[in-house]
Amino acid sequence: MKTKYFMAFFCIYAFFASISEGKIEINSDYPGGNIIVEKIDQEKDTVYLRQDLRGSKPWWFYWNFKAKNIGGKTVKFKFVNQAKPWRLIDAFGPAISTDGGKTWKWQNPQEQPAVDEFFYTAPEGVNEVRFSYCIPYLFSDLESFSKEFEGKNGFKLRPLCKTRQGRQNVCIALNESPAKKKPRVFLTSRHHACEATGSYVLEGFMRELFSDSAEGKALREAAEYFIIPMVDLDGVENGDQGKNRAPHDHGRDYIDNPIYPSVAAAKEKLLEWEKQGGTDIIIDFHSPFVGERPKDGRTYNDNSSIYLPGRPDATIEKQVKIFSDIIESVNTSELPFLSSDFLPYGTGWNKPSNDPNRSSLPDYATKLKGTKMSASIETPYATCRGVATSKENLKDFGRCVAKALLKYIDSIKTN
Ligand SMILES: [Zn+2]
Repeated sequence: MKTKYFMAFFCIYAFFASISEGKIEINSDYPGGNIIVEKIDQEKDTVYLRQDLRGSKPWWFYWNFKAKNIGGKTVKFKFVNQAKPWRLIDAFGPAISTDGGKTWKWQNPQEQPAVDEFFYTAPEGVNEVRFSYCIPYLFSDLESFSKEFEGKNGFKLRPLCKTRQGRQNVCIALNESPAKKKPRVFLTSRHHACEATGSYVLEGFMRELFSDSAEGKALREAAEYFIIPMVDLDGVENGDQGKNRAPHDHGRDYIDNPIYPSVAAAKEKLLEWEKQGGTDIIIDFHSPFVGERPKDGRTYNDNSSIYLPGRPDATIEKQVKIFSDIIESVNTSELPFLSSDFLPYGTGWNKPSNDPNRSSLPDYATKLKGTKMSASIETPYATCRGVATSKENLKDFGRCVAKALLKYIDSIKTN
């Protein structure tokens, strides 16, 4: 009798297990993951979902999830319950990974993707696929780079601070000297957690800085460096969009009493340098808003081209424009860079902030003595004037930014 009951139980279990095995499953339980599933219509192979704003009020567009049991199916992914009718899918469709996030490819449809939905046909046998708004760059990517470069020409990841959630944040320092002997360069990225292209460009920059090339050697001889690759490390790992997070994001935390330990550490370093003669050059690596294909086939907006925004201080803005011109002159990467895409202060989104309780790194840098040039570089998520971003070409562009910095340092020495 007992065997009979067991067999019956086993058959029922196996029946339900086989049903759930074939069902589409969605989750984001990995670093960088972000999704809310509203509904899955298993009959119609349609998934209704939305990005998880994580308590921040303003609408944003970052999402990153995996779908299981979709092999051989054509699945429709539809974003719903949006506060704004804005685009959630960039110029080349979703970024797709079929190897658990190691490699990514843009879906790259022939035409402008729909604003809020895409279809994907998974090959038979490929049952787990990751989809992301952009090609992610996580702490594990920084660690892989670090393992490759550890000890090379002075490269070393060092502790910076503990994050609010207890993670160990890191920095890189080179040629530290209390007696200021060389120009000082302060580099940051991920003030906004989802802005992954900034990390690839900064990694490319570091690849040149610590390389055996003639430019790498000259860069190391030319300046002192302090680098914070992931200011909002918690946000990067949690898969937060991070931009405009409540009560304010890391990029607006350069106030008297910063609420984020990494910004407090960044300020501490800048103040230490301030007492020792000042910081000469600041470069903050960002990504802009959602990009798209040009409606007329040729006019790219500022979310679809790499550019540097101008600064409120006219003297600093002039230097940023000079740096922008140099980047164009040395850029040999696949990604186009036109210095005419420079966004002068007072134009487009680049207007005065009317919130006296917030201060950005460039605002703060303007108050420090010695700041000659304080640039941000905005690198689009997907399309740079029609060329699709990849891990490789973003890093190549970063190497060119490093070479441009070398020329820029030479220019300020001779002036
Ligand atoms: Zn940003």
